[in-house]
Amino acid sequence: MNYLSTRGQTPPTSLDDAITAGLAPDGGLFVPEALPSVALQQPADSLADTATAVLAPFFAGSALNQALPDLCAEAFNFPAPLTKLHGDNDYLLELFHGLTAAFKDYAARFLAGCMAALRQPNDPVTTILVATSGDTGAAVGSAFHQREGFRVVILYPHGLVSPRQAHGLECFGGNVQAYRVDGTFDDCQKLVKQALVDESLRAAHRLGSANSISLGRLLPQMAYYAHTALGFHAQHGERLNFIIPTGNLGNGLACWMAKQIGLPIGDIQLACNANDTVACFLGGEAYTPKPSVPTLANAMDVGAPSNMERLRWWLDDDAVRQQLSGISVDDLTIRSTVRAAPAQHGQVICPHTACGVHLLEQLRQSGDKRPWAVAATAHPAKFDEVVERLIQRRVPLPKPLAQALSRPTQAAWMRPEMGALAAILTS
Ligand SMILES: *Cc1c(COP(=O)(O)O)cnc(C)c1O
Repeated sequence: MNYLSTRGQTPPTSLDDAITAGLAPDGGLFVPEALPSVALQQPADSLADTATAVLAPFFAGSALNQALPDLCAEAFNFPAPLTKLHGDNDYLLELFHGLTAAFKDYAARFLAGCMAALRQPNDPVTTILVATSGDTGAAVGSAFHQREGFRVVILYPHGLVSPRQAHGLECFGGNVQAYRVDGTFDDCQKLVKQALVDESLRAAHRLGSANSISLGRLLPQMAYYAHTALGFHAQHGERLNFIIPTGNLGNGLACWMAKQIGLPIGDIQLACNANDTVACFLGGEAYTPKPSVPTLANAMDVGAPSNMERLRWWLDDDAVRQQLSGISVDDLTIRSTVRAAPAQHGQVICPHTACGVHLLEQLRQSGDKRPWAVAATAHPAKFDEVVERLIQRRVPLPKPLAQALSRPTQAAWMRPEMGALAAILTS
C-alpha cells in the first residue's frame, strides 16, 4: 500500500519511507491511499495477534511485512483490559499498563520497533524530535532508550506537565535528552514541524518524528479498539461505542479508522478539555485552531490538533460532524468527576480519563442506554498531586512508574526558537 500527503504535493510514498520521514516533505501528514477492509469476526488469541491482523493490509509491500508479528508482539506486550464500571453497560478500556503508564506506550514501542528494523547498519544516527504535552516524551524516550542508531530530543513546555510526567521524561539520559522549553506545547510542536521540513537542517541531520503525526504511531492505535470491539461483539452480539479523551486527535482518529476498515465499533465521541477546538468544530463552528490553554488534563492541552488535517482530508466538514461528536470539559468538571469517580463508578481515574467519564455521565443523563467504553488514557498515579487531593487517599504506584521515579533526572533549558533547536541538533 502507498501513502499520500494531505497537502497533495508529495508523490505516493511507501510505508517504510513514510514512517522514516514522519512528516511528508510538503509539510502534510501521510495518509493511506485507501482504507482496506479487514474482515475479522473474532478477536485473535492475544492483543498482539489482533494487531497483526489489523495492520497486515497497511503493511502490504513493506519491508516490515515479515517482521510484523514480531513488531506487534514487542509493542503489544501488556494488556488492555476492558473493566466494568458500576453503571449497566459502562466500561473503562485501560490503556495504561505499559512502562510509562499512558496509552502512548503501545504506539511509541511499535514505532521504535519499525524504525529500528528499517535502519541499515551504516546509516547515520537518526535524531527523533519529540514535542510533548506530557506523556509522549516519556513513552518515546522509553521506547528508543539505548537503541543503537537513535538519539531522541524531547521538547516539553516547562511548568505545564505534572511533576511525575516531567520526571518520567527526564529520567533516561544517554541517547534520550530532555529540554524544558519556555513556552506552550504548541510552541514545541511548531518547532518540531518546522525543523522536519527545514532544508538545511535535513541536509545536516537525519531527522525523524515520533509525534502522533507519525504513521508509525497512528496505525497501531487501531489495534486495541479492534481487539476490544471484536471481543465485546463476540460476547454480547452488539457493537461497543467508544468515548476518547482527545488532544491531538491521534487516538480518536485511530478508532475512527478501525471502524472504517470494518471493525464492529459503534459511535465514537471525543472528550476534550478546555481546549475546545475540536468540540467547537464538531458542534458546527468553522474549524479554528486556537492557542492552547493549560488544564488539569495537560496531555490534551492542544489548540491546533494535528490530526484534524487527516480527518478533513478524508471527509468534508459536514461528514466529519455526522460521524463524530464531542464536548469540551472544564477543569472544575474534571475535578468533580475525579472526586466522585471512586464512589460513583468504582474506579480511580486520571484527569484525562475524567473528561471521557463526564461525557459518559452526560450520555446516561440524556437516556442513552448503549454500551460505552471510555478509553482510560493514563494511570491516575501519574497525576498524584491532583488526584490524591481530590479523592483524599493515596494512589498506589504501578511498578514501572515507581522504577522510573527512582531514577535521577537531567534536562536543559531551550528558548522556543529555531536557532536554539538547531544548536542542540549540532551539539
Ligand atoms: C496524549 C494523551 C491524550 C490525547 O491523545 P491524542 O491522541 O493526542 O488525542 C489523552 N490522554 C492522555 C493521558 C494522553 O497522554
